Amino acid sequence: MKETITSSRRDFLKRAGIITAAAAVINPFDLLANTGYQKKGSSKKMELTFRTFDAQMRHVFTIANSSRTTTPIVLTEISYDGFVGYGEAAMPPYLGETQASVIEFLKRVDLSRFSSPFELQDILTYVDSITTNNTAAKASVDIALHDLVGKIMGQPWWKIWGFNSATTPCTSFTVGLDKEDVVKEKTKEASPYKVIKVKLGRDEATDKMMVNTIRSVTDTTICVDANQGWKDKYYALEMINWLNERNVSMIEQPMSKYMLDETAWLTERSPLPIIADEACQRLTDIPKLKGAYHGINIKLMKCTGMREAREMVSLAKALHMRLMVGCMTETSCAISAAAQIAPETEWADLDGNLLIANDVYKGMTVVDGKITLSDKPGIGIEKL
Ligand code: MG
Repeated sequence: MKETITSSRRDFLKRAGIITAAAAVINPFDLLANTGYQKKGSSKKMELTFRTFDAQMRHVFTIANSSRTTTPIVLTEISYDGFVGYGEAAMPPYLGETQASVIEFLKRVDLSRFSSPFELQDILTYVDSITTNNTAAKASVDIALHDLVGKIMGQPWWKIWGFNSATTPCTSFTVGLDKEDVVKEKTKEASPYKVIKVKLGRDEATDKMMVNTIRSVTDTTICVDANQGWKDKYYALEMINWLNERNVSMIEQPMSKYMLDETAWLTERSPLPIIADEACQRLTDIPKLKGAYHGINIKLMKCTGMREAREMVSLAKALHMRLMVGCMTETSCAISAAAQIAPETEWADLDGNLLIANDVYKGMTVVDGKITLSDKPGIGIEKL
């Protein structure tokens, strides 16, 4: 009787094709070994390595409160079974992280607790639990892990997530605060880009000089980032109305991130979309910003990386908020990682790699101003 049941069960499985299908799934790594990204000498243990890197700026970079010529970066790699994923932590001074604090954090990350990079959720939840802050350090692990998993799967993340690469926006190119003749020169340099981003928020004379100088060279769309520089809501509304007559498409962080009620007042009256940047760091910040801003600017270094960035896309959309993807001054590593969510965003400010003179990766490209994603697996980068 027992035998009868077994053999009829086997017949059923055969009819359903289950035995054949199960036999085919031997080892996904064997099937994916021909993706070209697997190296010899593989080990089924994840290994995290890292090194510091100073990004040299092409121009002195000035925003409302500071100027600098270099950006401190830490580059990470996670290797597993012959595949290597690349990651990065980029740290502009205002973020509160340094190369030393990132290294200290990375030394505490113990990936030997996990048996495979496909435990991505558990790994990144653990990484996030190590400290409260260190968002850039966490992003450097998150990006390397995503790159690794994408390479093993043989697909880029925009495809794994099911996004449409045709819907990426044009990236803006930043023209920093400077003297009139320098601004004119930088504006001419930005001519291949379809959107110019301008950093305002000092004083009325400087802000208007910046916009008027750019307008004396080109009619290209301008995105404005006030970096919390406007102190008064009436003044901010007056400036926005003035900018609205000059082909400006949106305003990023007009006032302090703490001025939520004033910003809500402004958003209600503004003819241009108001986008939260400094006010929106992580997923949990989004619900309280609904109503106070039209949308949010997602940056991997603020939100701990690609996993949370993708969650922020869903939450913001569910709340009918508009989306932008931004960056710090970064190599093509973190830029290409951020570009994976670009198909879901209305605005992109992914020019960080274009502002540095010593990039170490080749990745996402800008074609006719538009963010152009490739079919390369993971985050789609190669070492230069
Ligand atoms: Mg900003």
